[in-house]
Amino acid sequence: MTGFYRDQGQLCVDGVSLTDIASTFGTPCYVYSAAKMAASYQAIAEVFLSPGRRIHYAMKANANLAVLKLFQRLGAHVDLVSIGEYHRALAAGFTPDQMVFSGVGKTGDELREAIIGGIGQINAESAAEVDHIIALAKETGVMPSVALRINPDVAAGGHAKISTGGSDTKFGIPGTEAEAIYRRMTDSQVIRASGLAVHIGSQIMNLNAFATAWQYMRDLADRLRSQGYLVPSLDLGGGIGVDYSDGSTADLAAFADTVETVFGGSDYHLAIEPGRLLVAEAGCLLTRVIYVKDGEDKRFIIVDGAMNDLIRPTLYESFHRIEAVGDHPAHSIPADIVGPVCETGDYLGLGREMPSLKTGDLVAVMSAGAYGAVMRSNYNSRPLASEVMVINGTPHRISKPQQISDLLAADIIPSAIADFPASAPQE
Ligand SMILES: *Cc1c(COP(=O)(O)O)cnc(C)c1O
Repeated sequence: MTGFYRDQGQLCVDGVSLTDIASTFGTPCYVYSAAKMAASYQAIAEVFLSPGRRIHYAMKANANLAVLKLFQRLGAHVDLVSIGEYHRALAAGFTPDQMVFSGVGKTGDELREAIIGGIGQINAESAAEVDHIIALAKETGVMPSVALRINPDVAAGGHAKISTGGSDTKFGIPGTEAEAIYRRMTDSQVIRASGLAVHIGSQIMNLNAFATAWQYMRDLADRLRSQGYLVPSLDLGGGIGVDYSDGSTADLAAFADTVETVFGGSDYHLAIEPGRLLVAEAGCLLTRVIYVKDGEDKRFIIVDGAMNDLIRPTLYESFHRIEAVGDHPAHSIPADIVGPVCETGDYLGLGREMPSLKTGDLVAVMSAGAYGAVMRSNYNSRPLASEVMVINGTPHRISKPQQISDLLAADIIPSAIADFPASAPQE
């Protein structure tokens, strides 16, 4: 079996029981299935890839080096959004020409380093950024490939905070301004205008939104070509959705059909940038029950995983399936699964049908492979949850466990604090 499944009532991953993983590695702990990540990549590769087409893994979804190394071995390219991610991608074995650099606020230092390093493509998002890149190309004597990210004014995505294609968001350039900026790019002679890009949001299940945005981009690209500009490639963005209620994905065959409908018969090189699709279902956050507390008509299951480990429920009101790892008898009262952090917003799930659990039992928060571990924090001075990847039936640690001493060692007490006269402590 690939990914997560039950065997004799016990939740397992790729032949390993989650109970065993919790005993060996402790909780809270992210557990990933390498086989499931590979299967998700193969599924989209099968329907989308052909000569002239590329899949760039949007590494912000899960940027652990082991995850990156896996996708690098599978032949993926990457999409990155900071120079930190650039260094991670390099460390995982990607070459700069396999990288696309996206993002609305790339700094001069980030751009300079990426250009000197030979980055494959920069997706520029404003006239100011294009001017900045042109200046850097002159300064460095290196000619970067630059695509223009356009804003097609298509609002799509699973939540307002991850919808990026509307004209009222900070992303991209309106089509009306794109022509003039593309001309500036081409006329500069120091950068290679490599085409257009869009990314309308994340967690998109409705393929019509893609079709509308891509058609908008295609029309603009055709118009630029008819005026004599070179427009070799189009970057269609990421955002392919995953249904967290059952772990199914948007229909990939229909996705590929949509690509065909809009771009069939053209000679544009095409790229997509899936993040969530490739990793969401391949991971869970494994937690242990600390206490069970019964209220009037509600039960609170207090676990050792919290909003600092997985902030998606709090930040995006996102739903994650929550499953007991063991086989427990049913319980009739709905439960809130909450963490130890001192905020009412610290929950992993609300009003769930959960079996009868007690202190020490294990609970897995599913579909946590994307935008989970990458958003961990040390809030409440909690060390980061560890990460384990199951490879060929064997669990491996993929990040060093963080100690409380690591947190303390990161802070500095300036000696100038001693300028404040010390008072006698309170009684
Ligand atoms: C976040 C992002 C992606 C990936 O989005 P998913 O919903 O994870 O597929 C792709 N491209 C860009 C530019 C992004 O910012």
